[in-house]
Amino acid sequence: MNLEGHARKRHELLEAASRQVDLAARKLGLNPGLLKILKEPKRALTVSIPVRMDDGSIEVFRGFRVQHNLSRGPAKGGIRYHPEVDMEEVVALAMLMTWKCAVVDIPYGGAKGGVICDPKRLSPGELERLTRRFTSEISIIIGPEKDIPAPDVYTNPRVMAWIMDTFSMQHGFSVPAVVTGKPIEIGGSEGRNEATGRGVVFTIEEAASRLGIDLAASTAVIQGYGNVGSVAASDLAGLGCRVVAVSDSRGGVYNEKGLDLAGLNAYKARTGSVAGYPGGQAVSNADLITLECDILVPAALENVITEENAPGVRARLVAEGANGPTTHGADEILYGRGITVIPDILANAGGVVVSYFEWVQGLQNFYWTKDEVNRQLRRRMADSFREVYRLKERHRVSMRQAAYMLALDRVSRAMELRGLYP
Ligand code: NAD
Repeated sequence: MNLEGHARKRHELLEAASRQVDLAARKLGLNPGLLKILKEPKRALTVSIPVRMDDGSIEVFRGFRVQHNLSRGPAKGGIRYHPEVDMEEVVALAMLMTWKCAVVDIPYGGAKGGVICDPKRLSPGELERLTRRFTSEISIIIGPEKDIPAPDVYTNPRVMAWIMDTFSMQHGFSVPAVVTGKPIEIGGSEGRNEATGRGVVFTIEEAASRLGIDLAASTAVIQGYGNVGSVAASDLAGLGCRVVAVSDSRGGVYNEKGLDLAGLNAYKARTGSVAGYPGGQAVSNADLITLECDILVPAALENVITEENAPGVRARLVAEGANGPTTHGADEILYGRGITVIPDILANAGGVVVSYFEWVQGLQNFYWTKDEVNRQLRRRMADSFREVYRLKERHRVSMRQAAYMLALDRVSRAMELRGLYP
């Protein structure tokens, strides 16, 4: 995507979230002063990161760490490495993290970080030196009680291990709880990789029981067969649901009788994509959105359900695995048509929930089994769904509006109780 396109998408995401916050504030009768505070990040740090490159030259990169609100606990949010990341984007994403953590009631505020760089053009050594120096520069505001980073676009468990090691070196002892998304060997949590897709399916189960959808006799379409989409597909299939179509950036595959996921996974492992899988017919990413099904899971990109295709959506339930897949206009159309949308800040919060579990395990140096992680994840997701659903019914609003109301209510109550310092 070009720079302009990237900025536009970011702008749309922020605007849609900001509109939801304003609507929720009005419904809740929120004190305008509190809303004013919540529209600004609490702290925004810009750092320059000098790195010795492999050829001996020195490059200086720019990095950001933003903490939006700390009323409910330390800040939590990923770090992205991307050539087009900037402060505005990081601020917007930090705010979204505040709402996401509040919806699932984990004791965190929102944060986000970024470094302007193209990680594909950096050698492993350059990437490590960049990460370590960035960690050192932001170490004045991060820490297990202050702000706990995690992976995001183009950062991974390897990068989290370097952050953990750098922070630990500076303190003279291991501090596993300073980041989440670490490799299991150094304090990562069981079940973290599957957490987001699994959480999506836990919320689908809750919604299905209220909408009278029998999952064992249902059909699902999943856009994006990556970390989130592939786990959601296999968990849905495990419940007896027929996954009739999936896709990735190269295209999709459709079989009305249900795709054979084991065969599909083997094909993808061999070719790197689901496109061209012989166990079904080709379908484009655009056509996939309007396929006949009970459950649609957009789990790839933002802004894929739009005012143009929303009238053609034939699913009864949309579960947002991706962040911001439904535009504001499309959201209103789906709501008007009686299609239930489980909003991103609820549906895909499983990742941050298990990050929270990883942090708790790190603080206690006591590690849980995968079963325990999944049991606790299910409880969190189901409880959060119930709370959002209750608000939706009481106020006759969409699930998205209800989720923002719940989040805003929790954050503003914490702010009120703590009071305004001094
Ligand atoms: P991923 O990189 O593992 O998978 C993304 C998938 O989307 C890939 O299969 C890719 O080929 C596909 N894709 C890319 N462009 C596409 C296009 N134009 N049309 C259709 N498919 C396309 O990423 P992921 O971790 O699964 O994340 C997916 C979405 O979920 C993102 O929006 C992400 O922000 C969101 N999310 C992820 C997590 C997490 O824990 N991984 C948590 C919350 C939200």
